[in-house]
Amino acid sequence: MTMLYCPRCSDVLDPDPNVGCRRGGMPLSPQLHQRLLALAGDGSTPAPASSVPFEIGGTWFCPLCATLALEPEPGTLRCRGCKHFLSHLVLDLVEFHPHDRLVVQSRIFRGEFSNNDVSTLFLEVVGVRAHERNTSWFGGTIDGISYELVRLEDREVALIVRIERSGLYPASPASTAPAGFSALARVLRDSLGLEPL
Ligand SMILES: [Zn+2]
Ligand SMILES: [Zn+2]
Repeated sequence: MTMLYCPRCSDVLDPDPNVGCRRGGMPLSPQLHQRLLALAGDGSTPAPASSVPFEIGGTWFCPLCATLALEPEPGTLRCRGCKHFLSHLVLDLVEFHPHDRLVVQSRIFRGEFSNNDVSTLFLEVVGVRAHERNTSWFGGTIDGISYELVRLEDREVALIVRIERSGLYPASPASTAPAGFSALARVLRDSLGLEPL
């Protein structure tokens, strides 16, 4: 059975669609569940290119590999890791799938760094744990807000900030960045010499 991840927060989805994402309190509609299963397929055929006629915005994760997805051009959402197109999932998610806890901020940084430097940095600032499914993923939590650093490709990382307690910030993403974000962004720049993209 294929493991699927939540497109809003990247947690593992429960195999029961009535449960869906536990962290976000987000059950899956039969339609979205079908679409996710179709996307997973047998792994041999990549999903066809898809796009929507508006700019998507916000932060999304690939349901197949939990990697941060990017919007290389407005309306086209694509996984950085496995390169699957995810745009066709967005409407359903935005309209019918409220998610309790949201990513409020994300930014990509580029430069030379080692995993060791990154883990040391997170140990100093927020504490560190290597993520269960990927050792190039580090994170820690302060006051219910979680900060994570995800290695995207050689020389690129994404700093991701999530709300862990619902109601702490307004639902609209990126409207309020917690103070830890600028602190971490500053350390990434000044200590590791990474440039924000
Ligand atoms: Zn979720
Ligand atoms: Zn992927």
